[in-house]
Amino acid sequence: MEAKYDFEKKYREQILQCSRCGFCQAVCPVYGSTLRPAYNARGKMLLLKEVMDGRIDLNDELIETLFQCTMCAGCFENCPSGVNVPEIIKQVRKDMVNIGSCHPAFKGMNEVLDKFTNIYGEDEPEDFERERGKKAPIVFFIGCVGSYREDESTLATLDLLDRLEVDYTLIDEVCCSGVLEDVGYRINEKLAGTNIERILATGADTVVTGCPYCSRTFNNKPQYGELGEKGVRVVHVSQYLNQMDFGVTTEKRVTYHDPCDLGRHCDIYDEPRETIRKIAPNFIEMRHHRADALCCGAGGGVRGAFAKNSIAMARRRLEEAEEIGADVVPTECNSCVHNLGNAKLRKQKFRIYNTTEFINELMIEREKNEPS
Ligand code: SF4
Ligand code: SF4
Repeated sequence: MEAKYDFEKKYREQILQCSRCGFCQAVCPVYGSTLRPAYNARGKMLLLKEVMDGRIDLNDELIETLFQCTMCAGCFENCPSGVNVPEIIKQVRKDMVNIGSCHPAFKGMNEVLDKFTNIYGEDEPEDFERERGKKAPIVFFIGCVGSYREDESTLATLDLLDRLEVDYTLIDEVCCSGVLEDVGYRINEKLAGTNIERILATGADTVVTGCPYCSRTFNNKPQYGELGEKGVRVVHVSQYLNQMDFGVTTEKRVTYHDPCDLGRHCDIYDEPRETIRKIAPNFIEMRHHRADALCCGAGGGVRGAFAKNSIAMARRRLEEAEEIGADVVPTECNSCVHNLGNAKLRKQKFRIYNTTEFINELMIEREKNEPS
C-alpha cells in the first residue's frame, strides 16, 4: 500500500519494529498520570500501525492520544527495539497539521509566534536592569519561560553571574521557536534570523543559555547553523558553571531533578551534579534519576494543551522528592521549575529552584554573615 503520510515514509520500519513488549509503559509520564495504555508509546505505535494498514485514518479523534506526549524520550531510552517514539510523534503531528487536525493550543502557539516575539504573546519582558546588546564575550540567552514567567529566578541567575564577575550581555532576544518543531510546525525563520543577528552583533564567541531547550535548538537546528559557522559556541548554564568555585556549602539535604531536555536529549547528567556536590555534601538522588528520571510533565506543548494531566505528572515527580526527605530540589530548566512549582504537594516542605538561584541565595547568606 502506498504511503499516505510522511510519518510512514520516514518511520514505517521503526513503527513495525515495536514488539509490544511494554517496557515503555513504566516510564511514560502520560501513562503514569492517566493509566490509559492507549496513551503510552506502545499504544501510540499500535495506533499508527492501524493507520499505515489503512484500517483507521488520522483525524481529530486521534488528537487526544497523539498530541498527549511530552517528548520526554523516556520510552526511547528504555526501548529494546530502538523505536524513537518522540521523533515519530513529531512527524505525525506535522502530518496532522497538514490535514487540519491539530490541538487548538498547538495551533495557537504557531499563530502567537507569527505575531509576537515570545510564546506568551506579551509585549514587554522584564528588563532585568541589565544592559542589552553591548559588546561582550558572552551572551546570556534567557528563554521565554525565564523572561516572562520565572523572572525572579532569572534575576537571581544574573546576580550570580555578576557575583562571579562573568563578562556577559543580554540581547533583545526573541523566542528560539524550537517548541514549534514539537507541536507540528517548523522553526520560525524570522525569529531565528533575529536572534542570530543580535547575538553576532555583540561579538560574543559564546552563548550561555538559561534554558536547555534553547541550547538544544541553537546547537541542533539548521536554522541556527550560522552561529556554529561563525565560531559561536552554545552551552547551557550548567555546563558553564560546573568549572567554577562558589565558596559556599550547605548542610541541607539536596537532590536534583534532571530536565528531559538536558538529560535524555543532550546527555548532560554529570555537570549539574558536579556543581551541586561541590556545595551540598548531603546530596541524595531521587528514585528515578539520570536517564530514568521522571518527566515534570511540561514538555511537547503538554502544559498548554493538557494542563490538568501536566500537573498530575509534576506531582508524581514531587512525590519522589518527598519520599527521600529532600530540603531542596534544584533543577536546570525554567519550564521544570514552573511546572513543578505550580504542582506543589499538600504540606510540601522542600523548595524547587534553578541551581543558579540556590547558589546565589547561599552566596547572599555568606555575604550577610561576613564581618564588615
Ligand atoms: S518499549 Fe519499544 S518495542 Fe517495547 S512496546 Fe514500547 S515502543 Fe514498543
Ligand atoms: S516521549 Fe515520553 S510522554 Fe511521549 S510516549 Fe514516550 S515516554 Fe510517553
